[in-house]
Amino acid sequence: MFFVIGLLIAAGLAAFVATPLLSREGAASASLPVDVTPMADLARRRLVVYENLKDLEFEYQAGKVAAQDYQNLKQNYLGEAAMLMAASQEAEHLKETDALLEREIAARRALRKNLPPQDYVCPRCGFENPVPVKFCGECGARIANRPSIT
Ligand SMILES: [Zn+2]
Repeated sequence: MFFVIGLLIAAGLAAFVATPLLSREGAASASLPVDVTPMADLARRRLVVYENLKDLEFEYQAGKVAAQDYQNLKQNYLGEAAMLMAASQEAEHLKETDALLEREIAARRALRKNLPPQDYVCPRCGFENPVPVKFCGECGARIANRPSIT
């Protein structure tokens, strides 16, 4: 339990320290090729952290690193790894939410095709809502959203 709390604090500190660095990277990423996705970038940085951690372990075992330095460096790397892990989980979650919204909108668009215009065209301002809605997206007026009586 204490280990987890320590890790969370380390992650928080790493996030705080890395923030100016990250925002600078973000500004530069506008000129990067399209296939460098945030997910791929996070995975690559996580790999680097794990690689460093492995090297550190190796050098400590070989007696090249003092115990205090080893502990400090290890805490840093673990904190960074935890932060990157949380960041990629966040990115994954956002991607899922986006996909869900896309499906919802696609379903509503398909529905609209089979509906008469009074179900999505506003009677007050004439705005054509992109999907069938109860209230106009432009002026907020109620849209008669019932099957028409024939
Ligand atoms: Zn309207």
